[in-house]
Amino acid sequence: MTMRHPLIAGNWKMHKTPQETEEFIVELLPKLAGVGEIEVLIIPPFTSLDRSGTLLQGKSLQLGAQDLHYEAEGAFTGGISARMLAACGCKYVLVGHSERRELFGDDDTIVARKLNAALDSDLMPILCIGETLSEHDLVEEKITRQLTQDLTGVGGKALAKITIAYEPIWAIGTGKTATPEVAQETISMIRRWIASHYDEAAAQGTRILYGGSVKPANAVSLLAQPDIDGALVGGAALVPGSFAQIVDAARL
Ligand code: PEP
Repeated sequence: MTMRHPLIAGNWKMHKTPQETEEFIVELLPKLAGVGEIEVLIIPPFTSLDRSGTLLQGKSLQLGAQDLHYEAEGAFTGGISARMLAACGCKYVLVGHSERRELFGDDDTIVARKLNAALDSDLMPILCIGETLSEHDLVEEKITRQLTQDLTGVGGKALAKITIAYEPIWAIGTGKTATPEVAQETISMIRRWIASHYDEAAAQGTRILYGGSVKPANAVSLLAQPDIDGALVGGAALVPGSFAQIVDAARL
C-alpha cells in the first residue's frame, strides 16, 4: 500500500501584507522543528508570494497560491499564470476553492482547465470539492459530478500529483465542523470513486484533506480518521500558534 504523507495547509484568503507575511513566517518556522514526514504549507495572497518564496528557500515550509489563470500568458488583465507562480517558489496551487466557485464564477469547466494548466507547469493542484448545506443530503451526487468534470483529461500519472480537499461549504468559516465520522465517510466515498474510475492503487495513493473550521480543538479527532490525510485550514491558519498546534495534531 502506498504511504500517504500528511499535509497541513493554511489558506490565508485575502489576509496579510508582504510584511505581515514575513512576520508570520519568522514566528512559525521554529515551531516546525522536527515535523518529519508532515508537509506544512502556507497559501498567502499573490502579493506575498515572491517574498515568501525567497524566505522559504531550503526551509521545511512549502508555499502555495490560492488560484491561477488557465492561460500561460496574454491579454488577461488581473490574471496570474502557473508559470508565474512556479517562478515565485510555489509548489502547490488551490483549484476550485468554494469561494472562487461561488464568488468569482469558476465553474467545473474552468476548474478543469486550471487544474490542467497547473499540472502542465509542474505545480501540484489541491482540488477543492464539497457540497452546500442544501445539497448535503445529495452529497454523493455533488461530489461525483465535481470529480467527473474537474478531473476531465487527467490520467493516472497526473492524478498522483493532485491532492483533493473535501470541504463541506456549510463548514467553511462558520465554526461548524463536519463530525470526524461524517468527514471520514465522505472522504472514503471519494476514495471509492477514485478506485472505480482509476484503480485501487490510485485510490490508496491519493492524498485527501478535510477542510471546514479546523481548529486546534478538533484537529486531533479529524486527523485520526483513517482516510483523512491532512487539513486545509482557513481562519486558524492566520495565527502561527494555532496553525502550529494543528500541525502538532498531525504528529500524534
Ligand atoms: C478554507 O478556506 O478552505 C477553510 C476551510 O476555511 P475555515 O477553516 O476558516 O473554515
